[in-house]
Amino acid sequence: MTKLGMGLMRLPLVDENDQTSIDIDQVKEMVDKYMESGFNVFDTAFVYHEGVGEAAFRKAVVERYPRDSYKISTKLPLFVITEESQLEPLFAQQLENCGVDYFDYYLLHNVSGLTETAWKNVDLYSFIQKKKEDGFIKHIGLSTHGNAEFLEELLFEHPELEFVLLQINYLDWEDEGIESRKCLEVARKYNVPVMIMEPYKGGFLADVPEEAEKLMKDYNPDRSVVSWAMRFVANLDGVCVVYTGASNLEQLESNIQEFKNADPLNDDELKLLQDVSEIINSNITVDCTKCRYCVDSCPEDIDIAKIFDLYNKHKILEKDDWTQFGNAYLNYSRLDGVGIASDCSECESCIDECPQQINIPEILKDVVETFETEIYGFTN
Ligand code: SF4
Ligand code: SF4
Repeated sequence: MTKLGMGLMRLPLVDENDQTSIDIDQVKEMVDKYMESGFNVFDTAFVYHEGVGEAAFRKAVVERYPRDSYKISTKLPLFVITEESQLEPLFAQQLENCGVDYFDYYLLHNVSGLTETAWKNVDLYSFIQKKKEDGFIKHIGLSTHGNAEFLEELLFEHPELEFVLLQINYLDWEDEGIESRKCLEVARKYNVPVMIMEPYKGGFLADVPEEAEKLMKDYNPDRSVVSWAMRFVANLDGVCVVYTGASNLEQLESNIQEFKNADPLNDDELKLLQDVSEIINSNITVDCTKCRYCVDSCPEDIDIAKIFDLYNKHKILEKDDWTQFGNAYLNYSRLDGVGIASDCSECESCIDECPQQINIPEILKDVVETFETEIYGFTN
């Protein structure tokens, strides 16, 4: 049976411009609510919240609940690995960060073109297999944003993998780059259980264009917009966990509610989601899921994820003049030590980091045209 997992990728912050300023009191409340609701699987990673995500998990869960009451999943940061000697210290650091003696699930994080240096040059699979044999890991797996063909190669070459974490949601189901449906089919062919990430596609599916929302509400006024996304993923065969990454208590409560009420979609409803996907695709300007993988690579300290979020929200309003999102961009631009869109030097370091294959510097040029205008107090 599919479980609801609590993803710890986008935790609430005290200072929204500082990813390390996790609002730990609110996270504790969220954890309590989640556990009280009968769920117990948490997902974090070494790189989340600029390296402090695992410690937040320790404070909110490990230091407050017995070890056998929850399961923890975390990930080896392939992004930073170039040689085998890094593996032991990193793994030891992760156990210490999380405050546990073993991980229930341990993944190679984002096996893809961007982490090629790690998985081609270093024998990561033997390392995690050995950690499993020594009792430090219960189950080994990987996450990937690669397409179905790439996933098939991985699963064929590594029968030791016990699960995979994949980006699946109704919008990406037939997407030619992401291939959610085909990836799930490959995992099922190899009999490998799937954990789902991005069921709401970084929040896009919680806040769909008006036209799409109208379709949903006309069909059933009592269903929320996110319920459609949750019902889609919660009833797929071959899925063991759906992780949602709540950023506050309210979102978490909504996720729990939607998951508990996630009855299967009928054929008419599935067809409606295809129409909704078409509308969303014609409205989304940048397909950014706010994963933040690109942010660390930017020498100009441009918070690409934040800027794209504001830009998308502004574009959906289809206004050429002032919006609250442009204003938020102006506020962002006034912060110390941050880069803005026009600071982009087009070095392209970020492009390979992006699992959604977004041409970031090109989009930033549009951001400059949209936000860095006199309307918002920018002058050339
Ligand atoms: S291309 Fe622009 S946004 Fe990307 S890393 Fe370089 S400076 Fe930063
Ligand atoms: S631009 Fe790409 S890498 Fe950066 S946050 Fe968005 S989806 Fe992630």
